[in-house]
Amino acid sequence: MLKHTLAGRGKTGPWPWFTAVWLTIAAAAQTVPPAPPTVPNCPPAPTGYDPALWQRAWTLHHDAVVVDTHIDTTSLVLDRNLDMGLRQTTGHVDLPRAAQGGLDAVFYSIYVDARFHGDEAPLFAKPPRTVNDDWPRPAAPGPANGSARRALAMIDGLCRTAAQHPERMQLCSSVAELRAAVAAGKHAALMGIEGGHAIEGDLGLLRQFARLGVRYMTLTHSNHNEFADSCAPAEPRWGGLNRLGVKVVREMNRLGMMVDVSHVSDATFADALQASRAPVICSHSSMRALCGHRRNITDAMLRALAAQGGVVMINYNCGFLDDDYAVRASATRATRQIEEKAARAKFPADSNELQTALRALDHRFPPVARPPLQRLVEHVWHALTIGGEDHVGLGSDFDGVPCVPEGMDDATFLPRLTYELLARGATETTVRKVLGENLLRVFTAVEATAMRLADEPPARHGDDDRERRH
Ligand SMILES: [Zn+2]
Repeated sequence: MLKHTLAGRGKTGPWPWFTAVWLTIAAAAQTVPPAPPTVPNCPPAPTGYDPALWQRAWTLHHDAVVVDTHIDTTSLVLDRNLDMGLRQTTGHVDLPRAAQGGLDAVFYSIYVDARFHGDEAPLFAKPPRTVNDDWPRPAAPGPANGSARRALAMIDGLCRTAAQHPERMQLCSSVAELRAAVAAGKHAALMGIEGGHAIEGDLGLLRQFARLGVRYMTLTHSNHNEFADSCAPAEPRWGGLNRLGVKVVREMNRLGMMVDVSHVSDATFADALQASRAPVICSHSSMRALCGHRRNITDAMLRALAAQGGVVMINYNCGFLDDDYAVRASATRATRQIEEKAARAKFPADSNELQTALRALDHRFPPVARPPLQRLVEHVWHALTIGGEDHVGLGSDFDGVPCVPEGMDDATFLPRLTYELLARGATETTVRKVLGENLLRVFTAVEATAMRLADEPPARHGDDDRERRH
């Protein structure tokens, strides 16, 4: 309307050139309202599902903002040249399957495996006093540290993917960008670092990753690092967070990065909650009350997380959902590995004999039966019961785990989770919270904390960084 009226004036006005320029600017400034996302046609109800409830679940699922805080497709992009634009027949996530499953926004894991963790600290410990002095040479330099480079390569892989598919995928680094991308019908891609060793103990590198758009960091992976203990090694290194670890958490608050306590030791979990000035997330962990793996959190930990305003995002990994599966899979894997090793020692590589022996092992050790989707739903339900409806979400670990439940085979199966929650009596409001709104609330609170801390100076390193606190 505005454009039409001015165009009429322009035709008769004294400065048509001026009006034309003004019109161009005005047209560019007008915001085009995004087209509402369309709900794909509902497929027939799966066997045993109530058709009316399935239709309701499908519509709700595709209308809600569905967020997953941990998916490892980035590793496949980087290491196996996966094109996310094409529907794959293996793995769990690509753009066609995400769209079909109503998976709107994903924090792709900037995963740094523990083998990249080295220690270059001796090289950087004591810089020269003046620019004319030589750097002191350590007696024996530590092993090379490739952690940050690996994280940067992961980020590059995701950025290349987004640039390859601009019509379907949008890199985002804020709640506003995420919601705008989803409203425009695009897949919102965000970044979370997995493994705090990615920053190589350097607060400057942490800030640099924040500048690149990384919006959460898992304080550890399966290894202790320069500032925090992991849940995996039997012996603690620092007994939780050391002094640098507290600075890292507080600096993440200042930078607007969510502090992620999946993978950390119970002591690190408690320290992180105490140190953080914003709600904390558990990006991909399940319930230890239902499966005893140390990657999961106890009811007491969930209550503490909820009391602080945080959210646990339930992991779909069979081994974190079901103790029985974990025991059977582990026993089968161990026996198979011993026999495979013997076969490889006995027969030459590439020989027909070896291939025959491996096929025989495949036959003797078929895949262990997977737990059903209901087992995953039980974890979500337990978390809702203990933590409350405001503190539960989804962090699948798709493309990062060897086994997901039967009935949650890939991203296209996600609407079934919505169905199961409704079938158990969850309200539509609760379901929307679990699917994404709880995580977006925490992300918003983390952004607000960063705004509040805008005048705080960047954290600095000190001589006591590598001291224990306990
Ligand atoms: Zn993980």
